[in-house]
Amino acid sequence: MSSYIRQIQTTLKKAGYYKGDIDGIAGKMTVEAVNLASQVKACTHDEIRAVAEQSKSHPEYNEPTATPPTTVNKSGFVLGERSLNNLKGVNDNLVKVVKRAIEISSLDFAVIEGVRTKARQAELVKKGASKTMNSRHLTGHAVDIVPIVAGKVSWDFNHYYPLAKAMAQAANELGVRLRWGGAWSVITGRAGTPQEWVKAYRNGGGRFLDGPHFEIPA
Ligand SMILES: [Zn+2]
Repeated sequence: MSSYIRQIQTTLKKAGYYKGDIDGIAGKMTVEAVNLASQVKACTHDEIRAVAEQSKSHPEYNEPTATPPTTVNKSGFVLGERSLNNLKGVNDNLVKVVKRAIEISSLDFAVIEGVRTKARQAELVKKGASKTMNSRHLTGHAVDIVPIVAGKVSWDFNHYYPLAKAMAQAANELGVRLRWGGAWSVITGRAGTPQEWVKAYRNGGGRFLDGPHFEIPA
């Protein structure tokens, strides 16, 4: 039990990221909540560190998820209940791309966001986590996906390359035009590797790498 963790849980709960009890224990739900919040910079590094450190010593964190697999495929990876839930209302073609991508991806991933409300977008812009009120999330033409490494969400950018590769391949197969936030360019029908796409973006002066973000361009 930690009053600091309790305080973090309260903040995360108010922001809508945490649905668990305010118990001061950095369990699985708290870790997931802080992971989500950190994605949109809705929590501090101190908070992330505190949760990470306490969670390591908490057995609950290592419990397997109770979510049963919903689809079986070649990669062996499946979209969990939460991912499928986050795809609700998303453009049909984009949903097909994500569902195909999980089948061929060399790395497991989860969908953390699909359709976004105007209020939430305004909040993200205010926080500096997004730069536009014309986000493709508002119309269901964008998804944010994150790599799952050793059962945890990874923010290591190296883990986003295999996801971009799988998403590009899936979109190419399905004939859906796809743009990736990691390089802010259309990646379907494009030669080269995701690493090269990012390099080209950076060489062009691009600095806002949004690895989880994939969209069907307007
Ligand atoms: Zn996004």
